[in-house]
Amino acid sequence: MTEANCVQCQRLLHADEARHAVDAGLLCANCYTALRDEVERQLGEIQSGINYPLAFIAHGFGAGIGAALYVASIVLSGWDIAIVAIAMPWIGTKLHQKAIGFKRSTGLVIMAVGISLPLFAVTRLLMWGGDMSMFDPLDLLWVGIIAYEAWRQNKPLR
Ligand SMILES: [Zn+2]
Repeated sequence: MTEANCVQCQRLLHADEARHAVDAGLLCANCYTALRDEVERQLGEIQSGINYPLAFIAHGFGAGIGAALYVASIVLSGWDIAIVAIAMPWIGTKLHQKAIGFKRSTGLVIMAVGISLPLFAVTRLLMWGGDMSMFDPLDLLWVGIIAYEAWRQNKPLR
């Protein structure tokens, strides 16, 4: 190995010294460990100290706005464009992130899915006058897409 400098502390790395290649260049072992610990700490913060009651209220409110958009799309178009219901977890997540900060956790995924899926089912049932025959196997696709969006936005980063 040739000699090179650590991009963090600028120290010259000896030819036989441990080094870590990162996007910016090479890091000595000390700097690499320090940076990794910092990233770990920040990732940990994103997943801890979550105010679930506040997140629930904010997410519920946002999902309600999404449900209103879904209802409006049905009323205005006369068609049930179920993909619009993706606005439920999407707006819900944006609002709870405004309320509690940028957080991600399995709990938030469960919360987002737990709010959006029942809301989707109830909204749809109400829109069609409680006619259960409105549901068909294809709806599992929408359920999957809504759940996926709730998961994608809230899943832990590692
Ligand atoms: Zn260094």
